[in-house]
Amino acid sequence: PYVVAAPCIKCKYTDCVEVCPVDCFYEGPNFLVIHPDECIDCGACEPACPTKAIFPEESLPERWTEYVALNASLSKTW
Ligand code: SF4
Repeated sequence: PYVVAAPCIKCKYTDCVEVCPVDCFYEGPNFLVIHPDECIDCGACEPACPTKAIFPEESLPERWTEYVALNASLSKTW
């Protein structure tokens, strides 16, 4: 799945939510997250993100590795 990382924090844009065909974005404390079981890997959100916060899990920069678990846990509370 795709993963939302730190550059999303306090971002006010929701372009990613609008382009996602399966509505798998959820609200975290101060950033959005992607539900890993709902994401279909379409890639539409990555170029739509104005802060470049979205990455395919396999190319997520190492400093943001913790965001894999954060996206999973924060999206599944809904
Ligand atoms: Fe939604 Fe596609 Fe982005 Fe996954 S890759 S979160 S399905 S827009």
